[in-house]
Amino acid sequence: LVKVIDGKKVAKDVRDEINAEITRMKDSIGVVPGLAVILVGDRKDSATYVRNKKKACETAGIKSYEVCLPENSTEEEVLKYISDFNDDPMVHGILVQLPLPSHMDEEKILHAVCIEKDVDGFHPLNIGQLAMRGREPLFIPCTPKGCIELLHRYNVEIKGKKAVVIGRSNIVGMPAALLLQREDATVSIVHSRTTNPEEITREADIIIAAVGKPNMVRGSWIKPGAVIIDVGINPVEDATNPRGYRLVGDVCYEEAIKVASAITPVPGGVGPMTIAMLLSNTLLSAKRINNFK
Ligand code: NAD
Repeated sequence: LVKVIDGKKVAKDVRDEINAEITRMKDSIGVVPGLAVILVGDRKDSATYVRNKKKACETAGIKSYEVCLPENSTEEEVLKYISDFNDDPMVHGILVQLPLPSHMDEEKILHAVCIEKDVDGFHPLNIGQLAMRGREPLFIPCTPKGCIELLHRYNVEIKGKKAVVIGRSNIVGMPAALLLQREDATVSIVHSRTTNPEEITREADIIIAAVGKPNMVRGSWIKPGAVIIDVGINPVEDATNPRGYRLVGDVCYEEAIKVASAITPVPGGVGPMTIAMLLSNTLLSAKRINNFK
């Protein structure tokens, strides 16, 4: 029986648990978690992401601090806000919405966020800890963390299994592969220079696809019974849709669902988990900073 992994439902469960924890913390030590979001420029998609994050914070009982700066702001202005948030005891997480305008040095700005408040988990030190055995990162990047959480909540055994991650970006593919390895899977990474992606993918018990290519993974790439986590969000033309397009994943869902034992839909799979994990990281940070167990 093929199971559709319901990311919406799991994200809702996670958010309910976060709500309860936030209430417990507020009642016992009077602290409310705070998340600062810095948005530079007027990209519509970025503004939508920031608005969604703010709404999710409000629902969860997290106080959000939002700074919207014009496109022509200077790097110094952004760094000043980061430095103020670093020092602000009400703020437990700082998020700089990417991409930044091209005249800014993204690396320099991300480095300025103090590692204790790096709820995106993109600081090189966090990634380094994720890669090293016996070390614990302060934060795990939200999207890969959401993928693993889905596997856990659906009781998918990871230990000893063969996993294939398709894509090796710093924000999804690479940390997803590191996480699976920490969970004792045997991990292969398929990327744009891999010569036999189909053959390698077909060996996998667990597939995490994070490429950004609509329907790239076909039914023939999938080992019968595999579990598929599809991170891709790709708009494809669709005249029957009032918006003129619809969203599909990196995996051809109609073919995959005939072969896999479980699969995440797009939308409604990994997407809702990403924001839930951001809230989770913010709560984790507030607990750690206040030494609240
Ligand atoms: P990216 O463009 O940074 O990385 C894509 C990766 O895919 C690269 O490492 C590249 O080597 C690999 N790749 C490219 N062509 C390939 C091919 N033909 N075969 C195998 N590998 C190939 O993208 P990203 O930021 O990692 O995002 C990937 C997808 O996930 C996008 O569709 C994005 O919209 C989506 N995404 C979703 C969420 C979410 O919350 N669900 C979050 C982040 C990204």
